[in-house]
Amino acid sequence: MSTVVSEKNEHNSIVKRYDLHSHTRFSDGKLSPEQLIDRATNFQLDVLAITDHDTTNALDIAKRYIQDSGSKLELINGIEFSTSWQNFEIHIVGLNIDTQNSALQALITSQQVARETRAIGMSQKLAKCGFDNMLEQAKALAGEGSITRAHFAQVLLNQGSVTKMQSAFDKYIGKGKRAFVKPTWCDITAAVKAIHQAGGVAVIAHPMRYDMTAKWLRRLIIDFKNAGGDAMEIVLPQMNPEQRRLMLSYCLEYELYASLGSDFHYPSKWSDLGRNLTLPDNCKPVWQLWES
Ligand code: AMP
Ligand code: MN
Ligand code: MN
Ligand code: MN
Repeated sequence: MSTVVSEKNEHNSIVKRYDLHSHTRFSDGKLSPEQLIDRATNFQLDVLAITDHDTTNALDIAKRYIQDSGSKLELINGIEFSTSWQNFEIHIVGLNIDTQNSALQALITSQQVARETRAIGMSQKLAKCGFDNMLEQAKALAGEGSITRAHFAQVLLNQGSVTKMQSAFDKYIGKGKRAFVKPTWCDITAAVKAIHQAGGVAVIAHPMRYDMTAKWLRRLIIDFKNAGGDAMEIVLPQMNPEQRRLMLSYCLEYELYASLGSDFHYPSKWSDLGRNLTLPDNCKPVWQLWES
């Protein structure tokens, strides 16, 4: 049996292991909430946030499972809202939210309507590309979870129309491609406001993934700050050292709290839950906002 030696920080207190961005089957993740909790527990994480796309439905199940299984994992109630900003789709993570809050649930409902409308439009466009019954099949995969483009990509992959998920985005459903439908997400201000009304903390998700110039990224961060946003993710497993340096510098310059997460969707060779996630010393960890 292997022994786990807990890391200690400069104050000689135990360093907790956090992963504050992950998905379940209730959006486009492949694991059930129970399987995700088991994985996090086995990987000896201390704190996990489940942040499904525009839904909180996994959270109660996960919480109950933690209690029933006797796991010591601390679950943070999270969500990942899709927002529209300047023709970009920006993801805003909410952490430590009260899932019962009515303003939060109202926003979730309107985002789900936007998902449904886009899915219908996408299915019609895919029909013109020669793919029938896409809506039914994508819905069957999504089950009771949020319907996402990842489900459409999975259907195309399963039926052999593409050879990998990424190709579905590159050929059909990515921005500007033949079956792309412009989504009608809320704006950043609405997402931040709903997260705050639910007592949570608003975080810019994976800032390096928007394919933006530095100038646009600064504009995004400034608008997010002006909307009352609290934090940004500066550590994800896929980031290279240059991206880490840059995101840390923005985080410090714009006085945001720092978050980290794997954006786990399913086990893969390249990333997994809780792997390689440590914040640099000179930033303010986002959990200070709810732990203190
Ligand atoms: P949606 O939120 O419905 O637009 O679905 C987007 C989801 O598809 C993302 O959260 C990713 O998990 C997944 N995805 C995988 N590859 C891509 C890609 N190239 N572009 C956008 N989303 C992708
Ligand atoms: Mn996703
Ligand atoms: Mn995202
Ligand atoms: Mn995500």
